Amino acid sequence: MANGIRAAVIGTGFIGPAHVEALRRLGVEVVGIAGSSPERAQPKARALNLPKVYRTWEEVIADPRVDVVHITTPNYLHYPMAKAAIEAGKHVVCEKPLAMNSRESAELLHLAQKAGIVHAVNYNIRFYPLCQEARARVARGDLGHVYIIRGSYLQDWLFYDTDWNWRLEPELGGTLRAVADIGTHWLDLTSFITGLRVEAVLADFRTFIPVRKKPTKPIDTFAGKELTPEDYVEQPIHTEDYATVLLAYEGGARGVMTVSQVSAGRKNRLAYEINGSKLSLAWDSERPNELWIGRREGPNEVLMKDPSLLTPAARDFTGYPGGHNEGFPDTFKQLYKAVYRYIQAGDRSAKPDFPTFADGHEEILLCEAIERSAKEQRWVKVER
Ligand code: NAD
Repeated sequence: MANGIRAAVIGTGFIGPAHVEALRRLGVEVVGIAGSSPERAQPKARALNLPKVYRTWEEVIADPRVDVVHITTPNYLHYPMAKAAIEAGKHVVCEKPLAMNSRESAELLHLAQKAGIVHAVNYNIRFYPLCQEARARVARGDLGHVYIIRGSYLQDWLFYDTDWNWRLEPELGGTLRAVADIGTHWLDLTSFITGLRVEAVLADFRTFIPVRKKPTKPIDTFAGKELTPEDYVEQPIHTEDYATVLLAYEGGARGVMTVSQVSAGRKNRLAYEINGSKLSLAWDSERPNELWIGRREGPNEVLMKDPSLLTPAARDFTGYPGGHNEGFPDTFKQLYKAVYRYIQAGDRSAKPDFPTFADGHEEILLCEAIERSAKEQRWVKVER
């Protein structure tokens, strides 16, 4: 697959290398990477055995050898980079959230559609085989009517006041933090599985750590443990450590999502439970190869990931036999498999089987409704 299609990755922090690795597993040639400076990108390129470090991200976009640009930089850079890439006629895979506000995300969607390029947003959690299976089972009618969509996305990497990241700075990460960073993964995933869009939201936020200690030197995500106490200055924090959002879905389903980046012991745990009129499904990203099926009549089940037991749609996104666990890096591979297959096939009128800028824009609209609801302490309709 992906014959002769070449990619380059902008961003060399936590997630940029995950893009590079997944692309290589698919046999996609990664021409090179760009970081915030060539000096900082160089050791990453060496570690990844990549032939080229671009001096700037603009050089990536200007390179005629590059067909697909992967954007893995802090959120405020997604819009200018994606816009420039589209204008240069490149296909774009952009990290989430797609942009800083819905004006930017709407423009990116419009420009991408007008240019006829292939556009994707990296909502990779959809590509755990058992999340694909959950979607297929809901679509097949196994659950009946969806009543309740409930769950959380909890982390602990911002638990201490000495934990720091660009996501804490609104001008770099956006005015929402936990909701935009991890909540949009949960919202995207549960809408993908149920096929239901959120119509209105009621949100409650808390910033439990109102002052943090900012390091005086730059660090990559999840690398904060390397610093010592004299490397910090105090900084007030205005974005949410925690949010709970009540959700009203089209068709009458109801939901609730809790997100937190200060929950000790929860490293990176997305969980959902969906209760329907026939049965329930539940899944947890820290045990991603198990799908719980709950029944009123008869025993409950745990379905272990095994392609021979999955629906054809989910089997297509499964790389290994039963008992061979698939995890986070595999979701990137499966997502890009879908994107590059679509690029290769060439039929731009076909419905994409991966998250596009339309999904990215939808998440920003949800974020804006959630933010307004938390501020005004009332139910807010999602404006589309
Ligand atoms: P990070 O801080 O670890 O890395 C960001 C990188 O951006 C830096 O290392 C640097 O190489 C690069 N960068 C910064 N300014 C640049 C510039 N002007 N030109 C070129 N490169 C520049 O951050 P991260 O955790 O890797 O997050 C990056 C993006 O990926 C964010 O949008 C985040 O939301 C998203 N993300 C997604 C997932 C997922 O599971 N889909 C996971 C983590 C992060």
